[in-house]
Amino acid sequence: MARLVVVSNRVASPKERAAKAGGLAVALREALGTRGGLWFGWSGETQPNPSDTPKVFRSGRVTYALLTLDPEDQRAHYAGYANGTLWPLCHYRLGLLSFRRADWEGYRRVNEHFARALLPLLQPDDIIWVHDYHFIPLAAELRKRGFEGRIGYFHHIPWPTPDVFLSLPSHAALVQDLSQYDLVGLQTEDDVRALLTYISSEARGWIAPGGVVGLRERRFRVAAFPIGIDATAFVRDAKASVGSDEERRLHESLAGRALAVGVDRLDYSKGLPGKFAAFGELLSRYPQHRSTVTMMQIAPVSRGEVAEYRALRRELEELAGAINGEYAEFDWVPLRYLNRPFQRATLAAIYRTARLGLVTPLRDGMNLVAKEYIAAQNPEDPGVLVLSRFAGAADELTGAILVNPYDIEGMADAMNAALLMPLDERRERWQTNMAKVEGNTIHDWCERFIHELSGAIDHLDNPPKR
Ligand code: ADP
Repeated sequence: MARLVVVSNRVASPKERAAKAGGLAVALREALGTRGGLWFGWSGETQPNPSDTPKVFRSGRVTYALLTLDPEDQRAHYAGYANGTLWPLCHYRLGLLSFRRADWEGYRRVNEHFARALLPLLQPDDIIWVHDYHFIPLAAELRKRGFEGRIGYFHHIPWPTPDVFLSLPSHAALVQDLSQYDLVGLQTEDDVRALLTYISSEARGWIAPGGVVGLRERRFRVAAFPIGIDATAFVRDAKASVGSDEERRLHESLAGRALAVGVDRLDYSKGLPGKFAAFGELLSRYPQHRSTVTMMQIAPVSRGEVAEYRALRRELEELAGAINGEYAEFDWVPLRYLNRPFQRATLAAIYRTARLGLVTPLRDGMNLVAKEYIAAQNPEDPGVLVLSRFAGAADELTGAILVNPYDIEGMADAMNAALLMPLDERRERWQTNMAKVEGNTIHDWCERFIHELSGAIDHLDNPPKR
């Protein structure tokens, strides 16, 4: 079996516990452990004129190689081009997009640095799996240096439609970079359509059945691989939480009120101001829910080094204060707003207790919280998922109440309907969703991508370089 090489910005260290590392990190660690493999990424450290030699260590069958970056390049790469340009672009937020050539150059330099450092560690028949928008040019940099083996890329965030993508000054170079992969994975069929439309209409490439693309001299495949969660672990944690101290404290604090929960990184793509406003609208338009529903929004602070994120944090603090100021009673706080991370077991207990799961991003590649909320429910008495139609998860979770996150009144109506929904309908909707969550787990996703990447080169027939 060929060795697997995973490249990602952040690497979950072997000691990081499953509950902290997250489902993706655990699944990748498992895939690497099964075949034996190499995990290559950033060390989290910066230093001027860093070496091209990564720090290498082994744990079980997995070798870790961590590279230190130049501080200015790291800023241009991460806060600059990746999160100041590509993130807003791919989430359709052109008003927040900033493009600076210096960031684009720093982004490319980091990818070159990664390629230089990775190349000596590679064997010709390795399967290389590159993760996310931080490393789109990596395959091109490896090919330049002579690597001809299989390289796949998975884009965890949405791929924007051509008219949005064309706003990016470097759009042509970026797609040229993508063509150096053998397999490009996106979250949904809509994302695939968006990229293929750009390729055929703007880049003058051709598309064959099965998503095979020809662009200049390159052949590669584009396909949807919707990501999943570790459903078994969430079901187990949620069941185990029943009767725990934390669960008891939560129930006591609610004093018989229904709980509506949101769990999102504090990110402008998550539609948090709209979600808060919709909850305010619910209390205003449907006064029967005053004092009978409590909303809890868990929003750990993220990317504090990017200015837009700091502004969003202030906006949310103000909105939360306004809702509580207007509707609170001396024995009821309508909105509990928490900026901290929790263990998976605690999240599972909160999800299971919540009668409503509120997942209302303006755009999201997939949104794993939606799937986690479903997995954690009590099958006998499940809660209802209110889900943005603009989350990738909306394709699969058709049992959710789908909402338009720009329609505040519509979201308030959906919350009201969910709170009043009879048990039969709740069960039916939950079963539909749970079948999807269990039918496509993070392990299935990993296996499918690796399997398709393993065979990718056979039918693409790219001409050899030398
Ligand atoms: P994104 O990748 O954009 O953050 P997702 O919803 O796809 O959005 O994934 C978020 C992940 O982070 C989920 O697995 C969720 O459980 C986890 N998470 C979010 N908030 C917290 C928190 N406060 N504590 C612990 N984990 C969290």
